[in-house]
Amino acid sequence: MKYLDEYRNPEKVKALLREIASITTQNWVIMEICGGQTHAFLHHGLDAMLPPQIELVHGPGCPVCVTPLEQIDKAIAIASRPDVIFTSYGDMLRVPGSTQDLFSVRAKGGDVRVVYSPLDAVGLAEANPDKEVVFFAIGFETTAPANAMAVLQAKNKNIKNFSVITSHVRVPPAMEAILGSKSNRVQAFLAAGHVCAVMGFHEYPSIAEKYHVPIVVTGFEPIDLLNGMVSAIKQLEAGESIAENQYQRAVKFGGNESAQNTIRSVFQSVDRKWRGIGVIPQSGWGLSPDFADFDAEIKFDVGDILTQESPLCIAGEILQGLKKPTGCPAFGKECTPQTPLGAPMVSAEGACAAYYKYHREVTHE
Ligand code: SF4
Repeated sequence: MKYLDEYRNPEKVKALLREIASITTQNWVIMEICGGQTHAFLHHGLDAMLPPQIELVHGPGCPVCVTPLEQIDKAIAIASRPDVIFTSYGDMLRVPGSTQDLFSVRAKGGDVRVVYSPLDAVGLAEANPDKEVVFFAIGFETTAPANAMAVLQAKNKNIKNFSVITSHVRVPPAMEAILGSKSNRVQAFLAAGHVCAVMGFHEYPSIAEKYHVPIVVTGFEPIDLLNGMVSAIKQLEAGESIAENQYQRAVKFGGNESAQNTIRSVFQSVDRKWRGIGVIPQSGWGLSPDFADFDAEIKFDVGDILTQESPLCIAGEILQGLKKPTGCPAFGKECTPQTPLGAPMVSAEGACAAYYKYHREVTHE
């Protein structure tokens, strides 16, 4: 625990909280992009220890939350076929589609399996040549290299019964969509350290300059998060807006070039719909034409799907920092982790699940 404990040291945490209180002179709205950071703030109670002038809002960096309903309904349609073994990370099984979730498909006899790596799904395809094996390839820049690697491996091994539904999303276009919105409230960002470990933060200086917002690359431990807050507040108070790296032990400006090359060898940049938010131009990765044989949407011809969101769910407003989970009228009533109406109540990185788990009060602002 040596290397973890030093980032959780209570005395250092208290000192950083005192520093934040001393440098904060006015109200600021700061968004942490990543759902993992949201959970870390709430898990350690740091959100409650910040000065009242600092409002934390929670960004769209929860991969399960932003996977569009169409993709979930397509996944459900494919997983319902008798010739398919459908594979996914566990969180996706409980995310509601228009009428059911992947767990319901499994309960009705569908072969839906949880895997811990896309390479496990490739292995299943090799072991089950009489079945079609499909992997639900969702996530941000962090999961894209492994998913690209799985497709490359299937191609190199000439495995014909493996395919993926892709729903990869990228952080920088989402930040620009939030900042460019007329209703934007975000004045500074804590950027997701693990995303930047892969992609670097070379895209951030121009965003910080264009929208006049500080962007601080931040890790996930209490001292990482509070150091990020200190940097962001110092910039806000000084009227500055630059991209800074407070996670230097993991993040380089250019990121991991080998991982980026793997992504680029399989995926191409595409417009992508984000659940609750809508289409953000060039915000996703889809399979490039060379890998069309591995595209489950083409293989199973699930292009036309009619979707129906729960009318009660305001996840889109939460993911853009416009409302808090406790501002949703369904929070803790119609919508709980046992009866989720939207993905943010299901996912381990979902803001609604974090507020429910850590007992944040219903405010209905
Ligand atoms: S509490 Fe439930 S219904 Fe409300 S926004 Fe969150 S997931 Fe949607």
